[in-house]
Amino acid sequence: MHTAKNILDTEIDRSPDVPEVPMVKLDTLWMQIGGTLCNLQCTHCFISCGPKNHTHGMMSLEKVLQQLKESKTLGVKDYYITGGEVFMNPEIFEILATILQYGPLDILTNGTLITPEKATRLREIQNNSSNNLQFRVSMESFDEKINDKIRGENAFNKATKGIHNLSVVGFSPILTITRNWEEAKDAEMEERFLSFLKSLNIYQPRIKILPEFLLGRLSENKRIYSKNEQVTKKCFEDYDITNLQCSTSRMATQTGVYVCPILVDKDQARMGDTIKETLRPFPLSHAACYTCRVTGMTCKS
Ligand code: SF4
Ligand code: SF4
Repeated sequence: MHTAKNILDTEIDRSPDVPEVPMVKLDTLWMQIGGTLCNLQCTHCFISCGPKNHTHGMMSLEKVLQQLKESKTLGVKDYYITGGEVFMNPEIFEILATILQYGPLDILTNGTLITPEKATRLREIQNNSSNNLQFRVSMESFDEKINDKIRGENAFNKATKGIHNLSVVGFSPILTITRNWEEAKDAEMEERFLSFLKSLNIYQPRIKILPEFLLGRLSENKRIYSKNEQVTKKCFEDYDITNLQCSTSRMATQTGVYVCPILVDKDQARMGDTIKETLRPFPLSHAACYTCRVTGMTCKS
């Protein structure tokens, strides 16, 4: 287990070679509805969420409404919520219904808390809104043993039931997986995950594969970023920096607004109290930015 602190965690480097990502237009607002609390404690969680992690508290309905009102004045088009686990938030249903009054919503969840009763309520909320409600359920494998080794005992069965419960009421959740295989096997793995979703009677099987971010618990269990893994201005000579999600989105929490969902537990990534004051360039000095650059990844669906 590594105990050394990530060398790039401690400061935002403003040296001339660190590129800044511009804020082009705020299209998407993320909200950390579950805070850093989660009923699971996955070995690869890049913000080390778990039942006892109170780094970020859950967002209250009042706070969410405040962010929504501000987001509307700034032209935000869509919303994403995440945690931790959003279904641990006691106000989750009121929060969902409220967000849907402002725009379409993607919910990131581990799926393990979605009972038939909750799924029925989610259907009612969707039926009462003209904006689309979409689910992203995270799992690691179609193999129970592989999944539960990363996500914990019985996580496979609980998530599978959650996906099933969503499908019964007409939702078609996107399966989200953090790549734990060689990239060359992507095509084969995609096929197998799609077959898995079909076996659960998902009418529109879709998957999203995310890269590993060497942060949080994964950095303890695998490795930390090396000194060479950081972006420089040269990295963007042949790559449009505005492809990065941080040029069009921000991440709101109960206590402040951060540049993105990936750096949400880094003090240096907290850009302000209000959304408006975060609409400025951000220096890409964190090693995690290297992963975004080399994988071209976005957290969006
Ligand atoms: S990866 Fe997701 S489900 Fe797992 S501990 Fe982190 S927030 Fe919870
Ligand atoms: S981690 Fe990715 S999304 Fe976040 S600031 Fe860096 S490049 Fe942008």
